[in-house]
Amino acid sequence: MNIGIDAGGTLIKVVCRNRGGLKYHKFPSVQLDYVASWINGFDEAQVCVTGGKAALLKSKMKRSAAEIVEFEATSQGVRYFLADHDFTEDAYLVTNVGTGTSIHHVTDRHQKRIGGTGVGGGTMMGLAQLLTGITDYEQIVRLAAKGARDRIDLKVSHIYEGAEPPIPGDLTASNFGHLLPSASLASLSQEELLAAVIGLVGETVATTSVLAAGQCGVSSVIFIGSSFLRNNLLKEVVIRYTKLRGGNPLFLRNGEYCGAVGASLYE
Ligand code: ATP
Ligand code: MG
Repeated sequence: MNIGIDAGGTLIKVVCRNRGGLKYHKFPSVQLDYVASWINGFDEAQVCVTGGKAALLKSKMKRSAAEIVEFEATSQGVRYFLADHDFTEDAYLVTNVGTGTSIHHVTDRHQKRIGGTGVGGGTMMGLAQLLTGITDYEQIVRLAAKGARDRIDLKVSHIYEGAEPPIPGDLTASNFGHLLPSASLASLSQEELLAAVIGLVGETVATTSVLAAGQCGVSSVIFIGSSFLRNNLLKEVVIRYTKLRGGNPLFLRNGEYCGAVGASLYE
């Protein structure tokens, strides 16, 4: 059996690969010691680790393990999953919305990290906590899905007030820019605040990605990372903004495991 591990800033993703296929496991990164001892139990397996916490995890394991560069592993995993898709383009962008966001230009032969933004899944968690006190990911995405952003975000149409704007009025002119009288602040619900946080993250990663895609001369952007897990609102925002700016967004099933799959393919 081959075990690929992507030890990220927030979550450790583990893929066990044998003839029967792939098995997926996920742990919070704070459980690094537990994961190390769990992996120690697989005597016969070949193990390969990647991700920002790979070296730390290896130092806690009582067995040898290979280590590969995260971006290399991720693009290998993307290629593996794409084989199941009706996708024929040989160059595209991969945007990994993890704790932070990393953007890669991938072709059939190579990958290059071309940039990123500190606005990512960690921003969702951090702003959600600051604004609502909620720290549970599932609760954050569940409540956000019920919220409207109109009272928090300033739209282009708000600025143009009845005049015909030169760009779609429905676009966000300023995330969190709809300043309310202080007396109304208390009336903002957790749902509204969380929806606005996800709007900010989604619009930022989509816009950054499409600009990067233009720079690389590609139009397809493959979005991966655990930030999309059960988070349809983030997906919707990203799809809308990517399409609006001429990009072609794509999501991979189990896409948050790309790094771990890539590591499991290491021979
Ligand atoms: P990085 O690649 O930046 O080092 P990572 O690999 O740990 O980080 P991902 O696992 O791709 O990043 O995504 C982490 C994000 O996924 C979190 O910031 C959060 O928004 C979201 N998330 C999804 N499920 C959970 C969960 N159970 N607990 C915490 N965050 C979660
Ligand atoms: Mg990661």
